[in-house]
Amino acid sequence: MSRTDDIDVLVSEVGPRDGLQSIDRTMPTDLKYRWIDALAEAGLREIEVGSFVSPKRLPQMADTGMVVEYANGIEDLSVLALVPNLRGAQNAVLAGARSLSMPVSASREHSQANIGMTPEAAVSQVKEVADLLRDQPGENSVEVGISTAFGCTMEGPIAEDWVLELALACAEAGAQSVGLSDTTGSANPAQVRRLFDRLRRELGDRAGAAHLHNTRGQGLANVVAALEAGVTTFDSSQAGLGGCPYAPGASGNIVTEDLVYMLESMGLRTGIDIDRLVAARSVIAEGLPGEPLYGLVPDAGVHRGFTYAANLVEAK
Ligand code: ZN
Repeated sequence: MSRTDDIDVLVSEVGPRDGLQSIDRTMPTDLKYRWIDALAEAGLREIEVGSFVSPKRLPQMADTGMVVEYANGIEDLSVLALVPNLRGAQNAVLAGARSLSMPVSASREHSQANIGMTPEAAVSQVKEVADLLRDQPGENSVEVGISTAFGCTMEGPIAEDWVLELALACAEAGAQSVGLSDTTGSANPAQVRRLFDRLRRELGDRAGAAHLHNTRGQGLANVVAALEAGVTTFDSSQAGLGGCPYAPGASGNIVTEDLVYMLESMGLRTGIDIDRLVAARSVIAEGLPGEPLYGLVPDAGVHRGFTYAANLVEAK
């Protein structure tokens, strides 16, 4: 489990999973190791390192078992792996994964395309996975992210009551936390604030992470809205890699570098060193030559007089 007592916001890096699975080329395994090392050295406390899905479907993720085993050896790093169903969870447990994330899509069409089942069937998979983990030794957890919670490329708007109903069902099925994902980059700040407010009222401290995409440039504004609703864990991807292969036109997670800069500037401690984080981009450039790397802070640098939030706290 990661240390969170000395930070205000947990930045959960999803690049090695969400980012790499949306790129057709495969990053060599030894470069995934180096990338994860570099991210952990920069201060990331939690990294989603891959997903246990059919290697025929997503060959980029075929080495996830090895990557989990490697990342488990890094001190103070919480290693997350995505599983779409019980079978994936069984493979994850065999590989030594302890923290699993599961997508449950609020859009019926996206759910079929992404994991080949209805949202209701996905909730029963959450229950089976939670039951499986209960029988394992040590600390284990399953976190759910409600995909397409803010809208779907295929289905259009998604009813907010339905999103909340699904989130509650996932918590009742045994998920430790349930977050909301803007899989297709359709969310706006008013909607984000409203939905996370409702999520917190329904689930209390089991209300989970915000997973936001910057497809239409609303990413960081949506982060601020989620912060106002009490969210303290944010998924992001180094260099903004990512998207969803089954949600056409939905590319680009929010950029970890820009997110960390914004949070630290706002006085919220992340525990992450921006220079080291930016340096980790070189591993992506080596592993996926020519791949576009997004983010503005890596090019502009921090503003003159920038101070990390931890130093502001000490100065008070
Ligand atoms: Zn995503």
